[in-house]
Amino acid sequence: DNPIQRKPAWIRVKAPTHPIYHETRALMRDNKLVTVCEEAACPNIGECWSQRHATMMIMGEICTRACAFCNVATGMPNALDADEPRRVGEAVAKLGLRHVVITSVDRDDLADGGALHFAQTIAAIRASAPETTVEILTPDFLRKPGALEVVVEARPDVFNHNLETVPRLYPTIRPGARYYHSLRLLDRAKQLDKTIFTKSGIMVGLGEERIEVQQVMDDLRSAEVDFLTVGQYLQPTVKHAAVARFVEPTEFEDYASMARAKGFLLVSATPLTRSSYHADRDFAALKEA
Ligand code: SF4
Ligand code: SF4
Repeated sequence: DNPIQRKPAWIRVKAPTHPIYHETRALMRDNKLVTVCEEAACPNIGECWSQRHATMMIMGEICTRACAFCNVATGMPNALDADEPRRVGEAVAKLGLRHVVITSVDRDDLADGGALHFAQTIAAIRASAPETTVEILTPDFLRKPGALEVVVEARPDVFNHNLETVPRLYPTIRPGARYYHSLRLLDRAKQLDKTIFTKSGIMVGLGEERIEVQQVMDDLRSAEVDFLTVGQYLQPTVKHAAVARFVEPTEFEDYASMARAKGFLLVSATPLTRSSYHADRDFAALKEA
């Protein structure tokens, strides 16, 4: 087991107390929806849910992968819930969201990796909340030919897939995934439809070097990826990978300016940045610009 290190002052977050936080929570319960905010024990839940910004996780709570940083349970998932896209659409309408992020567990057990379910969820949101912009954060669809095409044809506004870490750390941190496969997925999504914004993110504090982060940014830009997120890795339990180091806020500022200089349109690089952190606010600002 890896003991959990004490967090530095810049990581501490406040307990959620806002009334809208409770409203968001009740809505998720009533519609039997799973959120990554809860499943991943995200430190921003108080802030995000108080602004009705939640990331829904479709296709169940059990993942076929076992990434060393992730709090989601691994195992054999349940059958898909065919009514889920409709409920997601309704919840998005009720929340009155201007932007929603939909993610999922990996479903290596399904022939299409869950691509059709993603497409149906996008269609359900479009039907019930036509003004809401949709961001999907997808699995890597490894060995699922045709899956990417199905989700791209559903025309999300943002296609997000996280590289999570530098290639050298894949065997320990993201076993079961392939760095260059994930990179090519992002590249192919952009080539299939240039009107879709693409987005990716990494966690730092896992033992990566600055020069490796720089290389990941270059790889992403060469795949024409538009948005980037960089956040501190936090260890969910003693069973997960240990934090190698708490990256200082000034180093995040350095990563942010490096990313902007490389041409990313939207960059979020702070200790508490997560893939969906401020996604609503940042995307709305970009559209207005
Ligand atoms: Fe949820 Fe993302 Fe906010 Fe975390 S940062 S609480 S995962 S919306
Ligand atoms: Fe977690 Fe995604 Fe890895 Fe599954 S594939 S263990 S949900 S990070």
